[in-house]
Amino acid sequence: MAHILALDQGTTSSRAIVFDEAGSVRAVAQREFRQIFPKPGWVEHDPAEIWETQLATAREALAQAGLTASDVSGIGITNQRETVVLWDRRTGRPIHNAIVWQDRRTAEDCDRLRHSGHLPSFRRKTGLMLDPYFSGTKIAWLLRNVPEARSLAAEGHLAFGTVDSWLIWNLTGGALNGLHATDVTNASRTLLFNIHDERWDDELLDALEVPASILPEVRSSSEVYRETAPGLLGGPIPIAGVAGDQQAALFGQACLRTGMAKCTYGTGCFLLMNTGRTAIRSTHELLTSPAWRLRGHTDFCLEGSVFVGGATVQWLRDGLGIIQTSPESEALAASVPDSGGIVLVPAFTGLGAPHWDPYARGALLGITRGTTAAHLARAALEAIAHQVADVVSAMEADSGVAVSEMRVDGGAVANDLLMQIQADLARIPVIRPKVTETTALGAAYLAGLATGVWAEPADIAEHWQVDRVFEPGPDHDRTAKLRARWKKGVERAKDWEEG
Ligand code: ADP
Repeated sequence: MAHILALDQGTTSSRAIVFDEAGSVRAVAQREFRQIFPKPGWVEHDPAEIWETQLATAREALAQAGLTASDVSGIGITNQRETVVLWDRRTGRPIHNAIVWQDRRTAEDCDRLRHSGHLPSFRRKTGLMLDPYFSGTKIAWLLRNVPEARSLAAEGHLAFGTVDSWLIWNLTGGALNGLHATDVTNASRTLLFNIHDERWDDELLDALEVPASILPEVRSSSEVYRETAPGLLGGPIPIAGVAGDQQAALFGQACLRTGMAKCTYGTGCFLLMNTGRTAIRSTHELLTSPAWRLRGHTDFCLEGSVFVGGATVQWLRDGLGIIQTSPESEALAASVPDSGGIVLVPAFTGLGAPHWDPYARGALLGITRGTTAAHLARAALEAIAHQVADVVSAMEADSGVAVSEMRVDGGAVANDLLMQIQADLARIPVIRPKVTETTALGAAYLAGLATGVWAEPADIAEHWQVDRVFEPGPDHDRTAKLRARWKKGVERAKDWEEG
């Protein structure tokens, strides 16, 4: 039986999962690493911790599954997207902590680029927005603020990578001739990559003052990149699949045909719809990105990114202490029939799609003396679902296609109440599959297609199975009222933080 090792490098933890050729999980290892918050709105990771936790979990997962390197057909890598690492090629030493996708420090840089008329060009070529979310302004910040960065770049010693590149480089030998590469999905989130001709773009590089010498080579999402350095995993294993986490989840959910959509409920929520060979230009503030490049063809997707999804529940737990564990949010929210009229807008790190306001901050509205922790928990679950419902509406308007159903995954989909609220507020069936490890599974599929474990993408669709379908409830009036009140709340949360 063939096996694939998926490395799922997420925002809060590194995971490694061994899948067999039936797409079943054989072993899982996971390690959390530090979230570093140097200032309000800033989020960093230590790249060394990312690498060490990822390597350790890879070894653990292989040991748990009782496999050696020669039993593994390939490695698939999937990763938190947009997060930026810059390192010295000679030593492998990062010149600074990684700046994480959630980090807002470059909000004013984005304003400046917009004011100087750059938005249309970035939007047309990259399919993205000018928002601190993406890598470009984070790279520029590091080049400006780390004293030795510019000179290292001028001498050709500096390397930039999103987290996939950082892992590939380390896995293939690091300073000893490591491969400096990325895939189209990760490249597409940097603000530097033209998604139509699939090249780094000189005009965009100039606008951000990023030298081309630091960029990785861009490859497809499913091909043999190179074998891992022999000492690391007990023998060489080909790295054969690479994709950003959300695109990998779209693949893992077998959303292989135009119009199929999935939403992942982790720290943030990410709704992606496959739009086939067409890169749809959004007129409703969504993102256009490659879904994957596979066997010589690129498929595209429309994406709505919500920055704070499951993290709303984390805040109830860690910030307020009204629950001990995230799953407790369900029972607490279910102890009241509604949110008692309150609206929570969890714009803790600004608002993403379709509002794009880096200056928005969280708001809690409609509080009375009768408001309890249970109402707040209910409002938190509603807030997650409202944000996704906003994206569903924008996606339907952009694509001209009604989103007929949504496949879901991520940590928070274990919450049945949240899933029901989601179906009610978005007014579409929400479908939870049996295997919700879809991000890692997507990366495994991409690697397995490149190494002959599976012959065709259609083979993987056969492995996908439904666990439960949540149908929208009948009460349209109630939904309409909740949606209207939410929209009012969002307006109040916008434009709060002073630039
Ligand atoms: P990530 O990959 O972004 O780190 P995960 O997919 O592991 O995230 O999901 C974790 C998120 O889901 C956390 O923000 C957590 O608060 C939330 N979560 C986990 N279980 C539940 C639950 N039963 N109900 C609501 N939220 C949950």
